[in-house]
Amino acid sequence: MAQKQNTLRVGLVGAGIGGLAAAIAIARAGADVTVLEAAQELGEIGAGIQMTPNAARLLRAWGVDKVIGDNLVRFEELNLRRKDGTKVGGGPTIRVEKTLGQPWWLVHRAHLHEGLVDVARKNGCDIHIDSRVASISYQTPGPVQVQTERGATFSFDLLIGSDGVGSIVRRTLFPSVKPSPPTTNCAYRAVVPYSQIRKDPSLVELVSKPTMEVWMAPHAYIITYPISAGKDFNMVLSHHRPNPVIAVEDVDMNDFRNDYRDFDPRIRKIIDMVPTAKRWPLLVTGPLDTWSSPQKNVVLMGDAAHSMVNHMAQGAATAMEDGAFLGRVLRETVSGRLSLAEAITIYEKSRMPKAYFKQQVSFLNGYIWHLPEGQAAINRDKAMEVELKGEQPMRTPNLYVDPTTVLEVYGYDAEADADEAIRSFLEQHESKDESTGITKKEADKILNWFLPEEERFLIPSKF
Ligand SMILES: Cc1cc2nc3c(=O)[nH]c(=O)nc-3n(C[C@H](O)[C@H](O)[C@H](O)COP(=O)(O)OP(=O)(O)OC[C@H]3O[C@@H](n4cnc5c(N)ncnc54)[C@H](O)[C@@H]3O)c2cc1C
Repeated sequence: MAQKQNTLRVGLVGAGIGGLAAAIAIARAGADVTVLEAAQELGEIGAGIQMTPNAARLLRAWGVDKVIGDNLVRFEELNLRRKDGTKVGGGPTIRVEKTLGQPWWLVHRAHLHEGLVDVARKNGCDIHIDSRVASISYQTPGPVQVQTERGATFSFDLLIGSDGVGSIVRRTLFPSVKPSPPTTNCAYRAVVPYSQIRKDPSLVELVSKPTMEVWMAPHAYIITYPISAGKDFNMVLSHHRPNPVIAVEDVDMNDFRNDYRDFDPRIRKIIDMVPTAKRWPLLVTGPLDTWSSPQKNVVLMGDAAHSMVNHMAQGAATAMEDGAFLGRVLRETVSGRLSLAEAITIYEKSRMPKAYFKQQVSFLNGYIWHLPEGQAAINRDKAMEVELKGEQPMRTPNLYVDPTTVLEVYGYDAEADADEAIRSFLEQHESKDESTGITKKEADKILNWFLPEEERFLIPSKF
């Protein structure tokens, strides 16, 4: 293939939400970006997805929000309920949005994906469909060589594995890593049109304004929210199976309805309206010891590196953060301030603990929402009582509004974090005087401005 001279050539395997986010960020950094996608058409299956404020921040920074428009839905209120429908916690979303200065959006995956594709193309990314990567060669000196199942070949300075939980890039680097469901927990996804729900007057409380509703129950929960410009009611229904679920499954709708037979009669009525649903596995990857090849010319991101359970709505958000972070460090490689290996080292050092933290907090929220009947559930609900009085608690098991968790998870700014990590790396690696540790920057500020050139302290050539 024809290649431009002197540009950083970055290849991404996988045009999912993470891969496209990374493509946008890296193209904006000045690199030449090619995305290889296995599917014959671009798109996302499934239903809705939350774009929590940490992800919304990136959609806004890249202008993706403008493309998606009204299909990004905001909600006014979060209600946490017991399975019989009794409200036990929650509150207005505006508090979180105002504190973080970012919206909390709900969106159909297809709309999000379309927006990302559009912006990636506008930024010059070259997206190839029907291009399933079959082999990767990265150990010999020179560019990484990639071959697709259809026989097309590509070469890149850096190859990024954004190819999801079954990643061929990860299998090539780390063949022994096997994503697996840590428990028998899994989830149905389903969508019902609001127009159908509104026909039943007993459901008015659930549909009179845009809200996110969570029914918590022993070993199961249901979370619902509006998507598609408020036209569709999206549901994620957590449950357990006798055995761990490892792949997306078609389901018997009687089983589906039966799993929630003792829930709030109102949500059961909506469940009865669901025509079809699928069961999704909740596979966890890692934590891995490293995300990259020893040569730092192949690196993982998103679900390929750190798939997690869905209970904090952070899988795609974390993949987008990886992409944003990669964009910032690779910008420094394009400008010559960092080598490629340094950029990837900074990325791994910062992002690996962040992703692990998200994996753990996601488990913990699942634990909280699935608590069995008993003292622990009573304590949980009691601790949230202040929320029902309209107060903002200092600490709450409702992690979607808990101040510490909100700041750590939803307040995280991947681009600012990357800039800080780059600054700190450059400072640490700055030339220093061997005996005193004085850096060139310090000497320039205090001495070098008045010393004659030949007497200047720490002239770089002396190092
Ligand atoms: C029930 C449920 C609810 C969820 N809710 C949320 C939520 O509200 N918010 C949130 O942030 N996250 C949520 N997630 C998680 C989120 O869906 C994933 O973390 C996210 O989609 C991962 O994105 P990715 O780009 O890393 O991988 P993927 O979306 O899996 O994309 C990988 C891409 O790579 C392609 N590919 C695979 N192999 C190859 C190959 N060999 N060659 C070329 N291309 C290849 C695939 O076709 C695909 O397009 C949820 C997950 C589940 C299961």
